Amino acid sequence: MKGTYNVDNKGYYGEFGGAYIPEMMYSNIEELRSKYINICSEESFKKEFDELLKDYVGRPTPLYFAKRLSEKYNTKIYLKREDLCHTGAHKINNTIGQILLAKRLGKTRIIAETGAGQHGVATATVCALMGIECIIYMGEIDISRQAPNVARMKMLGAEVRPATSGSKTLKDATNEAIRDWINNPIDTHYIIGSVVGPHPYPDMVARFQSVIGNEVMNQLEILEGTKDPNYVIACVGGGSNAAGLFYPYLDNQKVKIICVEAAGKGIRSGKSAATSILGKEGIIHGSKTLLMQSKDGQITEPYSISAGLDYPGVGPMHANLYRSNRGEFHSIDDSEAMQWGLNLSRLEGIIPAIETSHAFAILDKKEFKKSDVLVFNCSGRGDKDLDTYIDYFKLK
Ligand SMILES: *Cc1c(COP(=O)(O)O)cnc(C)c1O
Repeated sequence: MKGTYNVDNKGYYGEFGGAYIPEMMYSNIEELRSKYINICSEESFKKEFDELLKDYVGRPTPLYFAKRLSEKYNTKIYLKREDLCHTGAHKINNTIGQILLAKRLGKTRIIAETGAGQHGVATATVCALMGIECIIYMGEIDISRQAPNVARMKMLGAEVRPATSGSKTLKDATNEAIRDWINNPIDTHYIIGSVVGPHPYPDMVARFQSVIGNEVMNQLEILEGTKDPNYVIACVGGGSNAAGLFYPYLDNQKVKIICVEAAGKGIRSGKSAATSILGKEGIIHGSKTLLMQSKDGQITEPYSISAGLDYPGVGPMHANLYRSNRGEFHSIDDSEAMQWGLNLSRLEGIIPAIETSHAFAILDKKEFKKSDVLVFNCSGRGDKDLDTYIDYFKLK
């Protein structure tokens, strides 16, 4: 479909997206696809969603003018403070939306996959809130790397099931979750944590996260007298915090879109997660998108110092933003991102998640005008990354 960067009625963003699923999963996906828009448009759904976002998550999150950062880079920089959300990142916006949807579909059991554990924690949180059984699949290696988040999930009453196949990380946990769903199609809903997976997930998650961009429009109008910044900027793992910020601006060409991916140890190092730049068309977890793969089509293991960015694919919305040049893509390596964790801490008193730090590093890569208004999505807080920061900068 020409003229829009949003999803079309078949679940595609340009040539990307769709639902490439095994026969056995068809009924689960079809139930969701045929019902999600109607359920999300019900007045009672919108009321419950909005109330929980307000009183439980703490929305609207502030749009903060970063004065010292703006002075240093001689441009106008605003931070959308998703780091102030309950549980410390934007992921909770999506899990609240999906748990309300699951309840209306009559589901009594929730499953989810998690890599670093952030989505697992956000899912365990909403299951506790609703008193619903919660099973989180997590790679065996990630379980040992991410002990504090495993403890949080258990504290919240979730069962954490190790994925012991393959590389024992996120992609394997996702495969286990899909297998579970196929075996439990009636009572179970699968909460995917980013704008990835088969249609309707990318669109559904983007809609739940669009509260970020919609709030920015209202806040910027009061602060700057216009709803439109010159740039919206976000880090991209699967792409959900970025999709949430970009959503109301997708088809507004006056607002430029910048996506920042993780280059890991460098784009050409073989240890990277710069999926759009390195990726080729392929199918991962039910979606046609750009993904890192070997010549014979095997998925390559991604790497980034930030566990939230090392997914081998990217959501189909972002693949299309890349292919169509609607979005400008940059990749930032581990050391640049780590330095920006320190910069933002010392310039603004905000310790960002390492994922988030990647986005700020573009200030050293690109010139902006004094009159430009930049909105960065401050996707999450750095508490979970303190040990990594401390080791890296030898602050102990
Ligand atoms: C999970 C996570 C990300 C990456 O996921 P997206 O779906 O690309 O947003 C980015 N920042 C933080 C703080 C995260 O927890």
